[in-house]
Amino acid sequence: MSGPLLQVSQLGKSFGGVKAVDGISFDLAAGELLALIGPNGAGKSTTFNMVNGQLPADRGSILLGGQELVGRQPRAIWRLGVGRTFQITETFSSLTVVENVQMALLSHDRQLFSMWRRAADHRRDDALSLLMQVDMAAQADRPCSELAYGDVKRVELAMAMANQPRLLLMDEPTAGMGPQERHALMALTRRLVAERGMAVLFTEHSMDVVFAYADRVIVLARGRLIAQGRPQEIRGNREVQEVYFGSGKTFEAGTLNVAAVAGDRP
Ligand code: ADP
Ligand code: MG
Repeated sequence: MSGPLLQVSQLGKSFGGVKAVDGISFDLAAGELLALIGPNGAGKSTTFNMVNGQLPADRGSILLGGQELVGRQPRAIWRLGVGRTFQITETFSSLTVVENVQMALLSHDRQLFSMWRRAADHRRDDALSLLMQVDMAAQADRPCSELAYGDVKRVELAMAMANQPRLLLMDEPTAGMGPQERHALMALTRRLVAERGMAVLFTEHSMDVVFAYADRVIVLARGRLIAQGRPQEIRGNREVQEVYFGSGKTFEAGTLNVAAVAGDRP
């Protein structure tokens, strides 16, 4: 396939009078890690939910490998290769690490969940190989409920990989993590992008993570795309700095956490 994997054009969505996403356009190539940043309420999650089909777009187009996603159901979009990370919920935390990944493989294979009891051996080797890719094979037989938070996130990533996504959407993947865990998860994501030629679109509040791992950054403010470029270009962009901080402040402190500045985290 030539051209970008994902082509978003003039995408828009309003809620009542609020233009949550106001005609944005951007591309994403296979093997690219693209950060979507912007203050709280900028339209990041709305954009994600239109790409994965959870929300119908009011206007615009989302092409994946040339195929239109707008108008399709989430399940159909997922089958076309748009994955996202799901949180392991209470119900599944009693299952072991490898069982959770086997569940994800079952789902990919479109078998019914009711078959799970009979299918406990389903693709265990494939599940273990996915766990190896996220450095979790050694903990395969532990219940997820016993894992450290950062390790749960690795398992969730392995589960998302079970569907062999061409595009993976990660909305605030590092929320609730400490700095070290954040870097570990993004370094892992970076490696999976390189190894699998997968594309990733992610949102992230920590600017040092964005600048360290993203190939490219797009910036939303009040539903509009106000800047895009390489991390270094975004770091120096006046308009972006003003949206985040008002005038007079910059991104220069490498450890600056925008959530704290923008005030949209408890
Ligand atoms: P972000 O993820 O960047 O914080 P969102 O996409 O969640 O931003 O929200 C963008 C705007 O759309 C905000 O003004 C928000 O209040 C509004 N919005 C989002 N989802 C809904 C909804 N389901 N109903 C009404 N308004 C919504
Ligand atoms: Mg959001």
